[in-house]
Order: sequence, then structure tokens, then C-alpha cells
Amino acid sequence: MHQLSTIELLPPEKEYLGVVGFPIKHSLSPVFQNAALREMAKGNPSFESWEYLRIEATTEELPELLKICRDRGFRGLNLTLPHKVEVLELLDEIDPVAAKMGAVNTVSFQNHKTIGYNTDGYGLSKGIETTLGMSLKDRPILLMGAGGAARAACVQCLEEGCSHLWIGNRSKDRLDALLEDLQASYSPDRMEGFLTGDELPDVPGDTLLIQSTSLGLKPEDPLPVTEELLAKIEGLYDLVYGKDPTRLVRKARSMGKLAADGLTMLVHQGAKSLSIWTGEEVPVDAMLDAVKLKL
Ligand code: NAP
Repeated sequence: MHQLSTIELLPPEKEYLGVVGFPIKHSLSPVFQNAALREMAKGNPSFESWEYLRIEATTEELPELLKICRDRGFRGLNLTLPHKVEVLELLDEIDPVAAKMGAVNTVSFQNHKTIGYNTDGYGLSKGIETTLGMSLKDRPILLMGAGGAARAACVQCLEEGCSHLWIGNRSKDRLDALLEDLQASYSPDRMEGFLTGDELPDVPGDTLLIQSTSLGLKPEDPLPVTEELLAKIEGLYDLVYGKDPTRLVRKARSMGKLAADGLTMLVHQGAKSLSIWTGEEVPVDAMLDAVKLKL
């Protein structure tokens, strides 16, 4: 694992990428990004000198770290908690969709400029497509959560033309803030909010449930939605992932629903970042195999 003080000491002959967060030691990104680079090197030996690092940096260290990485010739960085929002004010350019999401998870250094993107929404969409065979376009969506991941997910659903978006959350303040921000870019007619415990919205039978609260990370967590709600939907994508399917995914499957956890989102957001940095097609299957082995 690297820190601000060790970045400048890296051997100069390599091309570097990395994920920056605090804490960072559990990040799976180096596992699947380095697997992809090794696979890409089989067809293009220039990738043999590319390496993806794990970098720990605090919020206070982030401005200096970005500067050092840019000057040191890094190709790009992924950002994870707690940096996805704070980084916005440190960038030269922000991709318009990332600006609507209010968060950046991918930085690309191009011609001495620092450009921000958000690939989480893309990862979600591809994850849903590849595991559930569903498209967000024209789909009614019920999304639980109003945190950082929910923000990116809502923007992706609206950008891709979901037919309606219901957003449920435990705390009213966060829900209202999210709705207000979304309504600055998209028609209020396309969305409505509800609080956990309120009467459930009357959703159509082809609704996709996207679970983006942090419930499910721990085995003892309660289910984030009721069985009554699960009975109403067609499919479930749970952003939470682990070695085994989450309790919610298992419950939905036992009720005959299509259901998948968020591992594919993780890998597809990383694949999109790598394609931004390299300009090449990326071996997603090798990335998925590598991360499954590590779990
Ligand atoms: P966050 O910003 O901290 O938001 C947490 C959300 O969970 C909020 O909506 C919060 O509701 C809700 N929540 C937390 N504890 C709860 C409880 N006990 N009961 C009900 N609701 C609760 O986190 P985030 O960054 O959005 O991440 C959310 C989850 O998505 C995490 O598990 C993360 O690992 C996962 N994720 C996965 C991927 C992927 O690639 N698969 C990517 C990003 C995130 P309140 O507003 O009421 O507090």
C-alpha cells in the first residue's frame, strides 16, 4: 500500500494508475485492474509496464496527492470514500454526467489537465444488463437509499430514460436534498420520494428494485425492504456485495424473483475507468474472474 510520501519514490520507468481512499486496504480494485492489465499485455506488450496501486490518503492530503500524481505522469486514479465529492473542486474539467451526480470516481490526467468522470452509473447499468438482462430504459425503478451511491444510480436511471423513479430512504433530510438536486436537471413528474415505514408506492409489476443503502453489509442487518415490497417487483439489483449473495438477494430469489448483488457493478465501473485511461477495450471477464477468486 502506498501513501503520499512513497509516491514520489516510485521507479520512473512504469506507467501508474491507482485507487485513492481512506481507509483503502480492503479495496478490491487493484486485484481486478492488475488482472485486466496483465491480460491486455498479452495482446499489447506496452501494458506490461502498467501498474495499478492502492494509495491511502486523507481528505487533507488529497490536493497534494493529485498534484504529485499529475506531475509524476500517472495515467489516472480511481477515488473512493471519502473523496468522491471533495475532489470536485480540485479538477480542471468535470464530465457533465459526473457533475449531475455531484461525485467523481475516476480522474484522468490528460495534457497536464485533471479531468473527472463518474463510472459508477455506467457500472450499475452494465451490472443490471449482464446479470438480470434488464435495461433501465422505459423501466419503472424503485430505488432504496439517498447516499452517494444512490445519487449516481438515480442520475443513471434518469439519463437512460427510466419510465418512473420512486426513491425511498430512512431519513427525510437526505431524501429531500436528493430530490431537490435531481429536480434541477430532470422533470419532477418523473420521480417521487417516500420514507421507510410510509405506505408503499403502488408500483407496476415490471418494476426493478435497486437497493443502494448500506444495509446488508453485515449478516445481522435487517432486510432493507419488506417482503410485501419484494412481492410487487420483477427484479432486484443490490449494490451490496460479498463472498455470498446478500440476505435480500437470497430472499428475493426464494420468492421467484430475478436478483443479483453488486459485484458486477464494481467490476464494470472499474472496466469503464480503465477504458478511459487506456482508450482500449477491456477484458471484463478476466476482471470478474480475478475478483471472484479473491473473495
Ligand atoms: P452512504 O452515502 O453512507 O449512504 C448510506 C445509505 O444507507 C443512506 O441512504 C442511509 O440512509 C442508508 N442506511 C444506512 N444505515 C441504515 C439503516 N440502519 N437503516 C436504513 N437505512 C440505512 O453510502 P453509499 O456510498 O451510498 O453506499 C451505499 C452502499 O452501496 C454501501 O454498502 C456500498 O458498499 C455500496 N456500493 C456498492 C458499489 C458497487 O460497485 N457495487 C458502489 C458504491 C457503493 P440515511 O440517509 O437515513 O442515513
